[in-house]
Amino acid sequence: MGGVNSPVRAFKSVGGDPPIIERGLGAHLWDVDGREYIDFIGSWGALILGHAHPAIVAAIQDQAALGASYGITTELEVELAERVKRAIPSVEKLRFVSSGTEATMSAIRLARAFTKRDLILKFEGGYHGHADSFLSEAGSGLATLGIASSPGVPEALAALTLNAPYNDLASVEKLFASNKREIAAVIVEPVPANMGVVLPAPGFLNGLREITNRTGSLLIFDEVITGFRLCYGGAQTLQGVTPDLTTLGKIIGGGLPVAAYGGRAEIMAQVAPLGSVYQAGTLSGNPLAMRAGIEVLKLLETANFYSKLNARAERFVAQLHRAVREFSIPAQVNSTGSLATLFFVPQTVGNYADAKKSDTRRYAAFFRAMFERGILLAPSQFEALFLSAAHTETDLERTLGAVRESFGLLAADPE
Ligand SMILES: *Cc1c(COP(=O)(O)O)cnc(C)c1O
Repeated sequence: MGGVNSPVRAFKSVGGDPPIIERGLGAHLWDVDGREYIDFIGSWGALILGHAHPAIVAAIQDQAALGASYGITTELEVELAERVKRAIPSVEKLRFVSSGTEATMSAIRLARAFTKRDLILKFEGGYHGHADSFLSEAGSGLATLGIASSPGVPEALAALTLNAPYNDLASVEKLFASNKREIAAVIVEPVPANMGVVLPAPGFLNGLREITNRTGSLLIFDEVITGFRLCYGGAQTLQGVTPDLTTLGKIIGGGLPVAAYGGRAEIMAQVAPLGSVYQAGTLSGNPLAMRAGIEVLKLLETANFYSKLNARAERFVAQLHRAVREFSIPAQVNSTGSLATLFFVPQTVGNYADAKKSDTRRYAAFFRAMFERGILLAPSQFEALFLSAAHTETDLERTLGAVRESFGLLAADPE
């Protein structure tokens, strides 16, 4: 429908037709016409090890021969859960689901039940999947397509979602002051990557923790992208802020459909069958996906995985900065670890309003110039560029060569 099964895959905002992909290996993709691309989408962040990693392929093949789904508990679920808990200590208990959307939707239901409150507070430009409660002022595909709030969401439900600008604690305080003891939870991407990459200002996440503690509201970190992306664990580990609930997805399934929500045992104990908050899934904890997830975490746990990946990403980003300066492109590079966004805007970007000032036509021109040179970036200004461990120095040098050529074209034709 529209040629895509997820709107972020469309080329509507950048022009042209999306390629039809036939296969992937490492950091490379091939389309049905045999064209090769260096891929910086990485299945929207899921593939930190690149495409078709041999250990993951073997694990999936091995499990497929044993059966793809049982609908009954396996040891694989226990093993993956134990690994996640060891990596992210705030996750004392967790539940596997099949998509990030299910994880965030379930976390919100649980927060509402636990606090006996109805409102939720999110941030403009944050993306938490496509459940009804999250589709106002949302990032990702909604930002790309300019959809401020989705038709089909009943107004009465939309009214339960409050939005604040990211990095703006004063606005959060104000919303709490005018909705006393009514806000069940604050849900936030600790490092937003769905309005493009934006970094939390010093003290912002701590401030959210302090406000939610003081007001009896829960703090939910949506780490569907950041979980196992920046370090072994979540962004919460790096930022030193402990949320009540965490949602995970993308990387923990190694490219198969897995996500999870978890957190404080006392809260999670309210989920059925221990408690009465209902949430279920036919394919939850799917054995193929669990095997893939276990294999991924084993590989990510190896010594220096993140220091090597992040160091390579840092060198790449430094070169991007250099090219921006050299060609006098009015642009910003926001980055952390293996996440980056090149915003075509002269001022710094610290929230959604800043991100929206970007010249999206310039991004489109840049995207197309890169695409013609065999480099596949997200077809939107409001997404991240994902580096994986499979990107070799040669891949990155080729990419930087294409960046300089593309900047040369942009500089020559400022319109
Ligand atoms: C991708 C994403 C989701 C939604 O996950 P799906 O698996 O696409 O449903 C939720 N939150 C964040 C931060 C995401 O990046």
